[in-house]
Amino acid sequence: MLRLIEHEALERDFGEPCEIVSEIDQNIVQIAHEMAHLMYNSDGIGLAAPQVGVNKRIIVVDCTEERNNTVYLINPEIQWQSPRNIQSKEGCLSYPGLVLPVSRPERIKVIALDLNGKKIEFEAGGIYARCIYHEIDHLNGVSFTRRVSRQVRRHLMRKWKQKRDA
Ligand SMILES: [Zn+2]
Repeated sequence: MLRLIEHEALERDFGEPCEIVSEIDQNIVQIAHEMAHLMYNSDGIGLAAPQVGVNKRIIVVDCTEERNNTVYLINPEIQWQSPRNIQSKEGCLSYPGLVLPVSRPERIKVIALDLNGKKIEFEAGGIYARCIYHEIDHLNGVSFTRRVSRQVRRHLMRKWKQKRDA
C-alpha cells in the first residue's frame, strides 16, 4: 500500500522532474488507484506520484464536493495558461496544516492521457485549475512552498513547524 513520504524526503528531489510514463500497464493503473484511495482517505483534493515516493508523471484529482469524480492524469502538461493570476490559500497533503497564499493562473488548458491511454484535453478554472497546477508542479520537483516569496515561506513555515512540534 502506498503512503505519503515525509516532506523532508520530498524536498530532497526538488528540481528533479519525474519520469514520463511510457506505457500505462497494470502496475501504473494500480499505483493510480492506490493514489486515489490515499487521496480520499486523507481528505485531499489532489495527489502527485512523487508524494508517495513514485518517480512518475501520474496525478489524481477530485475537486468536487460530492467526492465522486476521480480524474487520473498521466503525463499531464499545461498547454496554455491565462495571463491573469489569482492568489488563494493553498494546502498540500505533504505539509499537513500548512496554508500558503499562492498565486496561480486563473485558467489553464491541460493535455494528458487517461488510464486507458487515451489522449484528453480540457480547460480548467478556479480550484480545479489551481489543484492541477499544484500537482503538475510536484511532477516537476516543485512544491507550493517554492511558489511564495522567501520571506512568506520562512515566516509561515516557522509558525507551522512550531505548531506541529508543540
Ligand atoms: Zn501538494
